[in-house]
Amino acid sequence: MKKEDCIFCKIAGGEIPSKTLYEDDRFRVILDLGPAARGHALILPKEHAENLYELPEETAAAVMVLAKRMAAVMRDRLNCDGLNLIQNNGEAAGQTVAHFHMHVIPRYKEDNQKIGWVPRETPPEELEALKEQITFTKTEV
Ligand code: 5GP
Ligand code: ZN
Repeated sequence: MKKEDCIFCKIAGGEIPSKTLYEDDRFRVILDLGPAARGHALILPKEHAENLYELPEETAAAVMVLAKRMAAVMRDRLNCDGLNLIQNNGEAAGQTVAHFHMHVIPRYKEDNQKIGWVPRETPPEELEALKEQITFTKTEV
């Protein structure tokens, strides 16, 4: 299902033109308009899901397979030195478009781009408490 007024639904469905790198019945892959680096692409499922929580598991699996194939294309055709996969969920995590998308970002030794975080010191007891809080088993998920 598409969502009214969702820009990525419109792009994925071809209603709004985009620089499309790949398309099949489930996905459209486009160039990002504000790239972090040369060749920055977005995998858009054609079915609307706001984020990873809403995304069907089968689609989630297919996204990773597609990303892996794209990684090889980027390496072979752009000669990139590395690659980031980034997927933001929720405003707090930097999501600005409320339609699930996976960033595929080729990286170059001298791209002067920073994608990352500032590591924090975590006391051992906090690590232990966290482990207790979020350890899970196969039957729970
Ligand atoms: P987010 O911050 O939600 O993870 O990423 C949204 C991404 O979509 C940004 O990198 C932004 O540059 C890109 N973007 C936003 N609007 C458009 C658009 O209309 N066309 C394309 N190709 N990319 C877009
Ligand atoms: Zn949408």
